[in-house]
Amino acid sequence: MTAALVLHGGAGIWPEDLREEAGAAIERCADAGWAAMAAGPLEAVTAAVRALEDEPLFNAGIGACLTSDGTIEHDAGVMVGSNLAAGAVGSVLGPRHPVEAARAVMEQTRHVLLVGEGAMRFCRASGIEMAAPAMFFTDRRRQGLITSDTVGAVAVDANGRTTVAVSTGGYTGKMPGRLGDSPLVGAGFYADDAVGATCATGTGEGFMRLVLSRQVRDIIAAGASPQEAVERALEMLTTRMGMTGGIIAVGRDGSVGHAHTTDHMPVAVRGGGS
Ligand code: ASP
Repeated sequence: MTAALVLHGGAGIWPEDLREEAGAAIERCADAGWAAMAAGPLEAVTAAVRALEDEPLFNAGIGACLTSDGTIEHDAGVMVGSNLAAGAVGSVLGPRHPVEAARAVMEQTRHVLLVGEGAMRFCRASGIEMAAPAMFFTDRRRQGLITSDTVGAVAVDANGRTTVAVSTGGYTGKMPGRLGDSPLVGAGFYADDAVGATCATGTGEGFMRLVLSRQVRDIIAAGASPQEAVERALEMLTTRMGMTGGIIAVGRDGSVGHAHTTDHMPVAVRGGGS
């Protein structure tokens, strides 16, 4: 058993000239997450995704993509594999770090997913840091220069405790009110200490209909390595939905997997085995 942390910065179309910048950014975020691993895998994925939300290049937190109305609607989720605890928020704009809002839903309510105005009321009342909406808009997104999708992190510690966190703006031009896979347990993310943790990026409508993150968990449970599992799941996304995306995973033993069928997907790995 060995600890591992895997991050992705979104599977999508990444212009060549942004790939180096994205690679450096995700490595910084991996350092932040790995440094927090001493406090446990939930702290590791939270710290990693907080850092990814702060990087304007990625589609989460600051720099999230715009809806067809030119607004931003953040979605985020977290899950803990030891007790299958989960929390998520959808269609919010205000939490400084949407991943913290998802975690607060998990830790402070009896619910799994809060959306829209009710989620915003909860965020204000729960004491998580809020920010002025203007802070999240960047010129690059306004000009449509980046079309990358979603950020996420999966972690396992040396005791086999697994976690996942995900955060996104969805995708450019989505209808206001649209939720994707990212805040949905089983579609965009899953963690189960009996098996491992997994997190997806790509057109959410495909991941939702295939419940693909849960499928990755089941493929690993049936004996595949995380690497084989993410590849098989992406093949399913291609053959059943005709869609592309990316998936990262860790097994409970610290083995790691990541793959994408899109143009590019920034990935960073700390620790782990084959
Ligand atoms: N999965 C996200 C969504 O559909 C965005 C993405 O990763 O493409 O909202």
